[in-house]
Amino acid sequence: MKDCNQCGKCCTKYGGGGLSASASEIDAWETYRPDIASYVRDGEIWFDPENGESLTKCPWLRKLPGKVKFVCEIYDDRPNDCKYYPVRIADMIQDECEMLEPRDLAKPKQAQKKLDFIMSDSRPPLGD
Ligand code: SF4
Ligand code: SF4
Repeated sequence: MKDCNQCGKCCTKYGGGGLSASASEIDAWETYRPDIASYVRDGEIWFDPENGESLTKCPWLRKLPGKVKFVCEIYDDRPNDCKYYPVRIADMIQDECEMLEPRDLAKPKQAQKKLDFIMSDSRPPLGD
């Protein structure tokens, strides 16, 4: 399993309506990050603050100039949905996550344990 190379595929895939935020995350944004909260409508993310329309891509994803690399502009305050990714090897395969190596595909249970270890600072383990 490789480190995340910031290819941006996960943010591109899930950033346009595939993410959710909890009530407590939204409360915290309303208090400390009203700029993020302005993209929330009725507990859902992400919506255009000006016209209220659902966005087809995450408004916080930025491509680094001259590179095929992306950054999150709200990294420290991003939703838990984003903090927890990747969770399952099967999802990573489907999402074509570039952390995966051939040996992870050959031994997915072992790869899941390795992933849970890598992600242990960000989320609880998936378990068996
Ligand atoms: S909030 Fe950040 S981590 Fe989440 S989808 Fe958007 S750019 Fe990616
Ligand atoms: S798809 Fe995988 S390698 Fe690409 S940014 Fe997301 S976690 Fe990182």
